[in-house]
Order: sequence, then structure tokens, then C-alpha cells
Amino acid sequence: MTRRIAVVGGGIAGLAAAHRLVERFGDADVSVLEADGRVGGVLRSVSEDGWVHEYAANAFLSGAPDGAVALCHELGVAVEEASAAAKRRWIWIDGALRALPGGPLDAIRTPLLSWRGKLRVLTEPLRGTRALGPDADESIYDFAARRLGPEVARAIVAPFVTGIFAGDARNVSVVAGFPKLAALEADGGLLRGGLAAMRKARAAREAAGGGAKRKRAPSRLTAPVGGVEALAAALADRLGRRVRTGARVTGVTPVAADVEVDIGGGAPQRFDAVVLALPATAAAPLVGAVPDLAPRLAEVEYAPVAVAYLGFRRADLAHPLDGFGFLVAQGEALPILGAVFESVLWSSRAPDGHVLIRCIIGGTREPAAVGEDDAALIARGRAALAQGFGITSAPVHTHVVRQRHGVAQYRVGHARRVADADAIARAHRLVLAGSGYHGVAVNDCIADARRVVAEVERITGEARS
Ligand SMILES: Cc1cc2nc3c(=O)[nH]c(=O)nc-3n(C[C@H](O)[C@H](O)[C@H](O)COP(=O)(O)OP(=O)(O)OC[C@H]3O[C@@H](n4cnc5c(N)ncnc54)[C@H](O)[C@@H]3O)c2cc1C
Repeated sequence: MTRRIAVVGGGIAGLAAAHRLVERFGDADVSVLEADGRVGGVLRSVSEDGWVHEYAANAFLSGAPDGAVALCHELGVAVEEASAAAKRRWIWIDGALRALPGGPLDAIRTPLLSWRGKLRVLTEPLRGTRALGPDADESIYDFAARRLGPEVARAIVAPFVTGIFAGDARNVSVVAGFPKLAALEADGGLLRGGLAAMRKARAAREAAGGGAKRKRAPSRLTAPVGGVEALAAALADRLGRRVRTGARVTGVTPVAADVEVDIGGGAPQRFDAVVLALPATAAAPLVGAVPDLAPRLAEVEYAPVAVAYLGFRRADLAHPLDGFGFLVAQGEALPILGAVFESVLWSSRAPDGHVLIRCIIGGTREPAAVGEDDAALIARGRAALAQGFGITSAPVHTHVVRQRHGVAQYRVGHARRVADADAIARAHRLVLAGSGYHGVAVNDCIADARRVVAEVERITGEARS
């Protein structure tokens, strides 16, 4: 019997899930129901007179086996790596800009840590380990402070976490937000676990006939040529008529062996399984008919984020901007979370002779800032660039983006809450997908499509065989 599967939400998570569902169940009737007039969700790349504005993700890391770059290759989407300058990054801390160490020698010299702080890092392998898991979670800040010392937690880990979650490292879960780090601790700690992981990877390569010497390709910052939205567009092309835009789902009700989906006031449609690839806060009001699910989904918070793009004439800037950009540590006076030198990473993102800088503003640190008008957000970006990099000339181009439900916050205990919500959903032939649950990065949303397929298989297998 043909499986009827609805995927609600045509962001990258929903599109990737639908793609893998079609691949797995060739004969299935898969429908992507997207409320908006376009697919891609928060991923959007808008070109304006040679300036390319990314509305959310501007890139992803290569090397993830089931990640975005692998999917780009599969779909024939051309990608480009960021320039080598991407390796150089700065942190604004204690009122000054300091380079992140790029290698062991830099790490010895870095002013980011005191000698005591550096010695504390070296003793990491001597620390005892803690069994971490959904029921024994801690914040990434506490994890870093415990294993590497409080200086590393404050000066390096916390700004890095702000760069990913636009959130506070003291609240973000290590188990849900950084599962690979939590897994290293299970293997003896960061150094011991890291060495064990390398040994395992080498053994796996040998077993696969690749030879121990053939190293894994390094992970590099990569993006589709022309912008990240190209990947969503390619997925939508591949899915063809299975994607319905302008289809706002208003209710999802399990009924006997089916799930009834209300779409924009029309007659309800029935499916064997429904994938909810929406922000958790958008999914919550749809599932009132499922006992205990809506309150759990409503618990997932999203940090609002604004992006102020500032474009300058290259000749007007004295600083070479020879790096990725910088992150601002908690408690500093700079009025932004960080900035990325977009056109240094990808020269095609600004017209010739110009530079494009993307300033990230708001997050959980200053959520109200996202409500400020464009002029105020641009002024924040200008003030930060003036203090950090001495850029005082007026921008020749500006563009502001607001993502009011920007980045999901994986608070301590998130993995347990999600496991419970997943179980409730599954029992009602629903699957939760998207950045609210199993990873916020584009790579995570795409890799999660395999789990979605396994869940649908489980649900429809039980329901139909
Ligand atoms: C400013 C910013 C910068 C970021 N930078 C990076 C980065 O550099 N690298 C990286 O990997 N990640 C980054 N991210 C994270 C990443 O972009 C997102 O986590 C990811 O794109 C979310 O995809 P999604 O499919 O889960 O959700 P969404 O993109 O939100 O898609 C959900 C879809 O559901 C639809 N929908 C909502 N309600 C309904 C309804 N009732 N019926 C039907 N459809 C509905 C929406 O219209 C939307 O299209 C960034 C995020 C932000 C905000």
C-alpha cells in the first residue's frame, strides 16, 4: 500500500527529510506543506547590485558524512570554500581585540589566557570524568570550566557558543548542543577521547580498505556559489510537485490509524505519518489534540537575531580585514554579538573594490535590540567596527534582516525533554524535525533526515504491515 506522508514546513530540514523519504520509499506519496510563498525557511540569499545578503546561515562546514556539502554534491549544487583567511579569528574581550590561537605556538603566546590558565589546559587529561547523558546534563560553560579551566570557558568557549546559538554558554546544554564533546568525556576526556576517536577513525578507514595513511579531508567552511539558498532551491526542484507553497497547516490530529491535517481552511487531508519540520513554537499550536505534546514544544525557546550588513569601499578602510571576523565576549561594551567579513571569505559577495561585513545583533544577550529600527541597528554595527577595527568611514551600502525566532536554545536538560517529546509524537504517528530538536546547524538539520526516515519507517511499518 502506498504510504502517504506529509512534511509540514519547507525549510532546509523539511526539504531534506522529504528528499530522503522519497529516496527511501520510492512509491510513497510525500507532500511538503509550506505556509510561505517560497521554500527555504530562514535560509534566504538576496543579491542586490552585487551585494549578497544571507538571511540566516551563510555557510557550513564540509566533512560531515551526511551533511550539507555531501547533499550539494549529490544534487549538483556548485560549492566554494571560504578563502584561507577564514582560519584567522578574533575575540573582543577585556576591551581589546585578541586573535584566537591558530596553532600550538600561538596558544603558548596568546594573551587570551594567563600562564595559570594555560597550565590548567595542559592538565585536562588528569581530570576525572563524569557520565553525561540526557539525565546528567550540564552547561557547555560548566563543562569547559571543569575540563579546561574557567579562563578557557570565559574567553574562548563562551564567545564561540554565542557565535553558534546567539545564546549564553551558561545555559546551553553540552549534551544536546555539543554531543561530540560529551562523547569525548565518555572516552576519558577531551585529549584521551580525541585520541581514541582518531584511532577508531583510522581503524574504520583500514576496515573499509582505504589504508591507515589516507587521512580524512579537513573540514572547511563552504557555501553554495551565489548563496546558501541554492541548496534549498535544488531540493525543491528535485521534489517538484510534491512541494506545495502557500499551504499553511492549522491543525494536526491523529485519528484512528491516520493523521488528519488541516490546510488553510480546506477539507482535512489524511496521512499515514506527519513530519513536523517547523520551529517548535510554530508546531505547538498545531498539536493541541495530542496529550502532553504542545507544552513540551512550547518550552523550546528561540533567540531573536538581527543581521546588519554594512558595505564599504575597500579604499576607505585602513585595516586589511584579513580574517573571518570577530566575536564579542559577554559583558563587553560593544553593542553586537560579532561580525563576519563576508566578502573576505567569498569575494563574490560584494562588488569589485568593496567589502561586505555582516554584524550579528541581539540573541539572548540583548533580545530587545532586534526590535530597534534599521538606523539603530546599523549604528550598532558601525560603533562596533569603529572600536574593534578603527573603521570610521560611512558605509556605502546597508541592509538589515530580522529573525525574530532566530536560533533555538538548547537549555540544560534539552536532550531529555526532546526524547520525551519524540516518544509522545511517535505514539501519535508524528515525527519532530528541524533545528529545534537535534542540532541547530544546517549540517545537523540535513543529517537528521536519516533519523526522520527511520522514524517514519517505524510508524508506518507498525501502522500498515
Ligand atoms: C542569523 C542566523 C545565522 C545562522 N547562521 C548559520 C550558519 O552560519 N551555519 C549554520 O549551519 N546554521 C546557521 N544558522 C542556523 C540555520 O540557518 C537554521 O537552524 C536552519 O536553517 C533552520 O532550518 P529549519 O528547516 O529547521 O527551520 P526554518 O528555516 O524555520 O523552516 C521552517 C519552515 O516552516 C514553515 N512553517 C511555519 N509554520 C508553518 C505552518 N503552520 N504550516 C506550514 N509551514 C509552516 C516556515 O514558513 C518555514 O519555511 C543561522 C540562523 C540564523 C537565524
